[in-house]
Amino acid sequence: MTVHGSCLCSDVAWEADGPLEFMHHCHCGRCRKLHGTAFTTDLMCQAKDARVVRGSEQIERFESSPGSLRKFCRRCGSPVTDAAPAYQDFTFMPAGPLDDDPAIRPVGHIFVGSKAPWYDIPDALPRFAAFPPGVDAAVLPDLAPPVPSAGAVRGSCACGGVAFVVEGAPLRCQHCHCTRCRKARGAGHASNLFTTFDGVRIVRGEELITFYKLPEARFFANVFCRRCGSKLPRFDRDRNIAVVPMGALDDDPGVRPQRHIFVGSKAPWFDIADDLPQHDAGPPPAA
Ligand SMILES: [Zn+2]
Ligand SMILES: [Zn+2]
Ligand SMILES: [Zn+2]
Repeated sequence: MTVHGSCLCSDVAWEADGPLEFMHHCHCGRCRKLHGTAFTTDLMCQAKDARVVRGSEQIERFESSPGSLRKFCRRCGSPVTDAAPAYQDFTFMPAGPLDDDPAIRPVGHIFVGSKAPWYDIPDALPRFAAFPPGVDAAVLPDLAPPVPSAGAVRGSCACGGVAFVVEGAPLRCQHCHCTRCRKARGAGHASNLFTTFDGVRIVRGEELITFYKLPEARFFANVFCRRCGSKLPRFDRDRNIAVVPMGALDDDPGVRPQRHIFVGSKAPWFDIADDLPQHDAGPPPAA
């Protein structure tokens, strides 16, 4: 079986035709920022069995820790793979942008010692504080917030170039399983906090912020740091909202995700294990 993956703008595409292994959820602070989510889901295969089929020149790389390169599409910001060996002979790929069912399922959670305070793991899969047993790699401390606390909830990207504060009251908070979010975040689903347009203030790195607007979408855009690929708040003046990827947060916002939306588009490999309300498509009319 050949499994295909592609980014949101479809400039970058890859495939793998060997055995896929060790699909896992990672809760480390770097993954949370790079993907803008509570955790990312990655899988491994032998690098010789994977290849980039399109757009290798569009792949940007960010060294999130010594020797660990994170890859994303320069145009749309989706996490991607370059099919290069990253651990022994294995390469990693994000599960969110896969176009096929990889036919394997997550086997556990890693780096739960760095988990987001606003996310409780609802399933019964094995959990490891950092790497799983048998992996010989250094465990780095979590990233420190790049700006001092002044009371407001802080957020930042993984390279520390962009920082923001959330000063507005949260309007809602939800997990989105739509295909766009899965590709844009490179994860099983997005987790977003909504506040008013002026409720988020960029405190540094405005010049590093870029975005990709999907041509056919009314609103959807992926906002990211051009240097590290971390997902950042999106501002919508017309609808008076700012959408904050919760993985970018450095502080506990005090609110928790309230529901799942676009469950009809959910990844086949992801099971919703909590009992939050689920909506097949968009959110219900504001209640
Ligand atoms: Zn792209
Ligand atoms: Zn991680
Ligand atoms: Zn950055």
